[in-house]
Amino acid sequence: MPSIERPDSDSTRSEHQHDHPHDHDHRHGPDQERHDHPHVHGAGGHDHGSELSETALRVRALESLLLEKGYVEEAALDELVQTYETRIGPRNGALVVARSWIDPAFRRWLLQDASAAIHSLGYTGRQGEHMVAVENTPAEHNMVVCTLCSCYPWPVLGLPPTWYKSPAYRSRAVMDPHGVLADFGVKLASGTRVRVWDSTAEVRYLVIPMRPEGTEGCSPEQLAALVSRDSMIGTAVVKAPMAAAQ
Ligand code: FE
Repeated sequence: MPSIERPDSDSTRSEHQHDHPHDHDHRHGPDQERHDHPHVHGAGGHDHGSELSETALRVRALESLLLEKGYVEEAALDELVQTYETRIGPRNGALVVARSWIDPAFRRWLLQDASAAIHSLGYTGRQGEHMVAVENTPAEHNMVVCTLCSCYPWPVLGLPPTWYKSPAYRSRAVMDPHGVLADFGVKLASGTRVRVWDSTAEVRYLVIPMRPEGTEGCSPEQLAALVSRDSMIGTAVVKAPMAAAQ
């Protein structure tokens, strides 16, 4: 069974500490709310009287209460959600990856101090204060999870996908990473080691996928267009331009 990795810098905080409200990133658009954890049948069962999941209902109730009491303003909440849904997303991370592929000095900086390297490109903000970049190699593939909830590097990847927050992914990513990768259609070369990184409230990870063959003449923008969100979580690999077009 694989062990869960934590960086040395996190050694003083070995517990999975969450000093943030747990529904911090669980506010979704209408479409996501309807499909929140549709296939997970936990011990608590389902509320079949509503389209919304139990979590979504609780978020709505909490939001209504906070608005009613005047603790938050609806416009501010909407602005926050819209920012991460439309202006901040995985394209930021893809540009970080593309830069690391063409600029060896930037890549070294990214691997040594991801927070500073990423911030230098202008990607800063909530849930991205302490970043760690991990690079895939032919010998090693990295995959990111938050076993406790849904910690995720918002400034570089936007809001987490629903599956990232599902109990199934959170438990299986640790117990059976090869099985999870197979479910995502990822075939690694035999002998490739898989390392699973458990995100915390303090540290968020960005996977630097391997640069595919046949991209020597590509511009940074062309390279970034090849880099999918999932490849930066580690549940996909970046395909060569011809393969990506198919
Ligand atoms: Fe978390």
